[in-house]
Amino acid sequence: MNDYLEKQQENMLYLLEQLVNIDSGTSDKAGGVDRIGALMATLYRALGLKVNVFPEADYGNHLVVRASQQHKPTILIITHMDTVFEKGTAKLRPFLVKDNRAYGPGVIDMKASLVAVYFAMKALKEIKSKAFYDVEILLTSDEEIGSVTSKSLIESHAKDKKFALVMEPARKNGAIVSARRGKAHYTLEVFGKAAHSGIEPEKGRSAIEELAHKIIQLHDITDEEKGIHVNVGIIEGGSSVNTISDHASAEIDVRFRKQEQADQIEQKIEDITSHADIEGTKVRLEGGEINRPPMEKTAKTESLLRIIRKVGGDELHIKITDTETGGGSDASFTAAIGIPTVDGLGPVGGNAHREDEYLEIDSFLPRTILLAEVIKQLHRKINQTKKPQS
Ligand SMILES: [Zn+2]
Repeated sequence: MNDYLEKQQENMLYLLEQLVNIDSGTSDKAGGVDRIGALMATLYRALGLKVNVFPEADYGNHLVVRASQQHKPTILIITHMDTVFEKGTAKLRPFLVKDNRAYGPGVIDMKASLVAVYFAMKALKEIKSKAFYDVEILLTSDEEIGSVTSKSLIESHAKDKKFALVMEPARKNGAIVSARRGKAHYTLEVFGKAAHSGIEPEKGRSAIEELAHKIIQLHDITDEEKGIHVNVGIIEGGSSVNTISDHASAEIDVRFRKQEQADQIEQKIEDITSHADIEGTKVRLEGGEINRPPMEKTAKTESLLRIIRKVGGDELHIKITDTETGGGSDASFTAAIGIPTVDGLGPVGGNAHREDEYLEIDSFLPRTILLAEVIKQLHRKINQTKKPQS
């Protein structure tokens, strides 16, 4: 299989170039994400796989790729086709290779992963591995805006699987991702009493001053060691420099490592905002929905990691390390419903969502081989446990 993939390196880069040069910002359905979907669907159908299209009105269609009905895949691979870049970006700065790195919009997040998954499947088919039939691949269209339309699709396709492999890029140092922090969002509104700050300041009650107290208290919830972070990211308030402000508001981003922390943090935020520090002002808290649950590093994650580490060591002689990150991904959804999940299985690169986003070309082939070998090993493991030892 490795020999076969080694010969495919040029084809892999060629497909990557094609994909990068088609802009696929999340909101660009017809001319963008759906074009990526159509291209990938054609390739997978040519491999003999079935492609189910789940149409979306406002965003790109989602694709589910798998072997024909009689197979019941146990491995779920999750990819997304959308990028954060607007239409016209690829024309401005198309795919470019320089000093062993590839550049272009979405090159590492995650068009290189779309290519890696496809070629891993192609290689498994080439060597007639039964693991080829044990895989279901999701290609979703709206990950970059929080998977609003794909979340339920991801959950419903994950629940009967034994493993979920999420193809966000590996970290800059090559680490894969074994834990992600959960995320919730609150809005705080403060009402005061307006007054002229020169003529009768004693009649006013400053909403901005009250908000300032709350911001300090909210930021104090942060506990780096426990993986808890509270950030007031946006504030607004006031109407003119010589008016005591009668209104101010704040947007609050909360990150946490464990699901149980979410309740504790919520309690603290409610305590802080249940009263005003400045008499005569009023505080109102809204929101608190968890946008993405945390992906916790469990014993199940550990055993999946052990398999990946072993494959990395045995086949590729690379030491696979893993890490936690604060950013969310679709891995949070599959992990939250109890499916052993590992993320960051894409090629190595960095600076995602930025102009200087890049793929380390030297990692493209090894990470594709790693993925194919991991699929083989997981398939083997599932079938070992299915058959009782004689
Ligand atoms: Zn991504």
